[in-house]
Amino acid sequence: MTKPIRLELPTPFSIGSVNAWLFVEPEPVLVDCGQNTPDCIEALVAGLAAEGLSTADLKKVIITHGHVDHAGLGGYLAENSSAEFWVSDHNWDWVADVDTKWGERVDFMARIVQQAGVEPDLVELMVSGMRNIASIWQSVPVDRMVRFNTKSKLQMGGARWDVIHAPGHSESQTCFYEPISKRLISADMLLHIAPVPVIERYAELNDQGEIERILGLPKHMESLELFYDLEISAVYPGHGPEFKDPHRVVIDRQKDRIHKRKEQCFELVKDGTSSAMGITDVMYSHFPQSGKITGLAMVVGYLDLLMQEGKVQRRTEEGVWHFNIT
Ligand SMILES: [Zn+2]
Repeated sequence: MTKPIRLELPTPFSIGSVNAWLFVEPEPVLVDCGQNTPDCIEALVAGLAAEGLSTADLKKVIITHGHVDHAGLGGYLAENSSAEFWVSDHNWDWVADVDTKWGERVDFMARIVQQAGVEPDLVELMVSGMRNIASIWQSVPVDRMVRFNTKSKLQMGGARWDVIHAPGHSESQTCFYEPISKRLISADMLLHIAPVPVIERYAELNDQGEIERILGLPKHMESLELFYDLEISAVYPGHGPEFKDPHRVVIDRQKDRIHKRKEQCFELVKDGTSSAMGITDVMYSHFPQSGKITGLAMVVGYLDLLMQEGKVQRRTEEGVWHFNIT
C-alpha cells in the first residue's frame, strides 16, 4: 500500500492552496492538478521533481470535480505529458468543454444574483471576477480522456479504488475510496471547513422547459450522511492536510456550523429581512463586496434548507425573491 504524496499548489482564491495527490508507484498518477497559473505550475513541477519526476512521467491524471483549482491545469498537462485523463460521467463536459460550461455558469449566476436582490450595478462586479476564471482553466482534448462512473474501479498506488458520487459542493464531484485499507480521497466533500455549495444549474432543462437550479446545500447534507456511515481510516482532502481527527468528528463540526448559520438566517427572515442579498449583507458583512458571492451561495443554501423544512417560503416579485417565515 503506497500513500499518496500531498503536492500543495497555490490558488488565487481565499481557500488558499489546493492539493494534488501523487502516487509514485507502480506508475505516477496525479489526482487533481490546480489551475493554469505560473505559480501553480512552478509548485507542481517542483513537487514532482522532489519525487524524481517531471510532468512527462505522469501516466494518469484523475480529476475529482469540475472546479478550476482542481481541473484548470488539465489542458497544460495534456500538452506536457502523454497522460490519460480519467474523468467521471458527472464531470465529463467540464473537462472536455469548459468554455461552454463556464459561459453557462456565469450567465446563470448573473440571473441568480439578480433574483437574490443584488443591485444591478453590483451584479456586474460580482460576476466579472467569475468571467476572468476562463483564462486560467483550459479543456483537455477528448481523445486524451477516459470515462469512469460509480461502477468503475480506479487503479492508483497499487490498489483498487471505488468511485463515490458526492454532489453538494459540486454536482460533478466524485470521491475515491479504497475499501481494504479504508482510505478516502475526499475532494472538497470532506474538508476541515464546510465547503461552499456552489450555485449551479442542471445541464438539461426541466419538464417546463426551464433552467433549474441544483439545490447544493441540501445535497451536501445528504452526501455528509453517506460518508458519516462509511468506515474511514484516513482522509486525503482537496484542501488542507490529511485529517488528524476522525472523519465523523469533522462531519459533526460541519453540521453544527451549518445548523447555527441556518438558524441565524431564519432569525433574520423572521425580523423582516426578505432578500437573500439582504441576509448576506448582515451575515457576511466582513466580506468585501466582490467576494460576497461566496456568502450569497451559502445563504441561498440555508434558505433552501429552511424551505425544505417548511419554515420559510419564497415568492418572486418583479424578478426578485422574497422570503418570509411560514
Ligand atoms: Zn471545488
